[in-house]
Amino acid sequence: MLTRPRRLRTSPIIRELIAETRLSANMFIYPYFVTKGKNKTEAIEAMPGISRFSIDQLIPDVEKGLKAGVNKILLFGVGEEKSEDAHSAHDAHSVVADAVRELKKKFGKDLFIVTDVCLCAYTTHGHCGLASPPAPLQRRGEEILYIDNDLSLPILARMALAHAQAGADMVAPSDMMDGRVAAIRNLLDESGFVNTPIMSYSTKFASAYYGPFREAADSAPGKGDRKSYQMDFRNGREALREAQLDEDEGADIVMVKPALAYLDVIKTVRESTLLPVACYNVSAEYSMVKAAAKAGYIDEQRITMENMYAFARAGADIIISYHTREILEKGWM
Ligand SMILES: [Zn+2]
Repeated sequence: MLTRPRRLRTSPIIRELIAETRLSANMFIYPYFVTKGKNKTEAIEAMPGISRFSIDQLIPDVEKGLKAGVNKILLFGVGEEKSEDAHSAHDAHSVVADAVRELKKKFGKDLFIVTDVCLCAYTTHGHCGLASPPAPLQRRGEEILYIDNDLSLPILARMALAHAQAGADMVAPSDMMDGRVAAIRNLLDESGFVNTPIMSYSTKFASAYYGPFREAADSAPGKGDRKSYQMDFRNGREALREAQLDEDEGADIVMVKPALAYLDVIKTVRESTLLPVACYNVSAEYSMVKAAAKAGYIDEQRITMENMYAFARAGADIIISYHTREILEKGWM
C-alpha cells in the first residue's frame, strides 16, 4: 500500500507541481572584487573561477554575466591606500565609487549594484572599524588594539554616501559596528538618498569560513581577531537580537553570514522578522565545493544546487553566492 506522500512522487511532473521550495534567478547576487590599476585580471587561487578585476576588465566581465542573467552584483574594493583613519574608504574616487560610475554609465538600470561598506580593506590594521587610540595600547607587554565603535560610524556613513553619490542602488554595511545602520540611514536621508536601501549584514559570525575572501580582498587583520564585533558562532539567540537591532535602526534587508553552517539561524531570523532575509554563501563554502569537485569526490552541480535549495528552504529570499555566475550560465537551475 502506497503512503500518501509517495503517491505524490510518482512522476517528475507531479514532483515539480508540489515542490515546496523554488529558486529563481532573481534571488541571486554575484560578488565582485574590483582593484586599482588598469588591465588587471588576477585569479584568486583559493577561489577557482573568481578574479580581482581592474575597472576596465570588470566591465566586459559584467557584460558577459548580464547575458546570462547576472544582473545584481555586490562590489568589494581592493588595493586602496590603507591608513589609520581609512580616508580612502569614502573618497569620491575610491575604486568602488569609480567602478559604480563606470558600470552605471555603461549598463544603466539593467545592472543593480550593491556596494560593501566596511573599513577592513582601508585600515592599516585591517579591522572593520577605526582603532582608538590610533597607536596600539600596551597592556602587560601585549599590544591591545581597541576598535572604537562610535569613532567608526561617521566614516562608514560617509563611505555609504560616496557610493550612493556614485550611483550605487543599495549599500551593504558588513562592519558589525553598533549603530551603523542608523548612522548610514541618517546621512543618506539628509543627503537626499531616501530611496537607497540598506542591506545590513546584521548577523555576521566570526568565522573561519572567510579565509579565502581575505586573500581576495587583502583584508586580514594584522593583529587580533574580530570577535569583539563579530558574533560568537555558539550563539543563536544573540543572532536574533542583532537582526532586531538593525531592523529598528532602519535596515531594509537583514542578512545572515555565513550560510551553510548557519541554516538554523537563517530559519529563526526568517521567522522573527517580516523583512526580506539574505544569506551570504561565503568564500570557504564555495572553495570547499570547488576543491572537492576538482578532486572528483562530489558532483559539483548537484552539491551546489542542493546547497542553494537549502538556503531557500531555510527561508532566505536572497542568496549572495560566488556560484551565481556558473549556475546561471550553465542553466543549473
Ligand atoms: Zn570588514
